[in-house]
Amino acid sequence: MSAAASSTSAAISGTSAAAEDNIADVSAEVAPYLEALEVIAEGYKADLAAAIAPHLATIQSAADRAVQAAKVETVMALVRDVQAYAAEHDDALLKGLLRAAASAIEKDPTDAGSIELIVGPMFSEKTTEMLSRVRRAALAGEPAVVVKWAGDTRYEAGAVVAAHSEVRQPSVPGSDACAPIRVVVARRLAAAELDEDELVVGVDEGQFYPDLVEQCEAWAREGRRVIVAALDGDFARRPFGAVCDLVPRCESVEKLRGVCMSCRKRDSVFSQRLSDSTAVVQEGGRESYRSVCRPCYFGKK
Ligand SMILES: [Zn+2]
Repeated sequence: MSAAASSTSAAISGTSAAAEDNIADVSAEVAPYLEALEVIAEGYKADLAAAIAPHLATIQSAADRAVQAAKVETVMALVRDVQAYAAEHDDALLKGLLRAAASAIEKDPTDAGSIELIVGPMFSEKTTEMLSRVRRAALAGEPAVVVKWAGDTRYEAGAVVAAHSEVRQPSVPGSDACAPIRVVVARRLAAAELDEDELVVGVDEGQFYPDLVEQCEAWAREGRRVIVAALDGDFARRPFGAVCDLVPRCESVEKLRGVCMSCRKRDSVFSQRLSDSTAVVQEGGRESYRSVCRPCYFGKK
């Protein structure tokens, strides 16, 4: 027990008659110790911050790059280098910092990836919803890519995704207000080569891509957010392409409905072909297909 503490203890156990005087004495006696402790604590915190700052910045920026590129091995190699340095110099502070950094970095980078599926019949605004999510992400500063089915020239040719005449998405460069959105035209998703920082991917007409499941899964495992707009069923209400195979692999499924183009009263849920063709893929717009409710699909009114 220090001299100051034993003196404080003695003062506090003093008689009640002298209590007020003693408390004043104790305060005066303890004050310099408290001040000294504060100075030591401030100095300690400053030292700690100065020691950590350069390492934190290096590890954080490497971790950011690695998570984006899904190259955890690179960062772990860096951490191992610094760990070796810390062991050699017996730096306890650095060792503690590295333990924290390593546990943060070892988090699987695929945690950030996801697949969102937007399905529904024709004319249910699936593309509009997909583009809306992509645009929100771009407004939040995330560079995005939209993959357009190469065979789709119904509304607009070239690298412009068009949901209907009012909603269209060409490639746009980045600005202060919005990250860039790049539109690519492809017949296989794998042909859409993405940059490392393009972490949001919109897919239009998902039912047409032969590599839909494997490529969406690959992108999600790279840490990308994949948003797929697709017809879930064809005109005969059969599963369309690999869209339904994506369901057990995605984070969310939303089935949109339009307005029945026959009765115009109920929601539409199925696509109906107006011609007699039985080919599954017959591109066309309002002249070839309509979107109808269940009763109208079966010819009731
Ligand atoms: Zn109807």
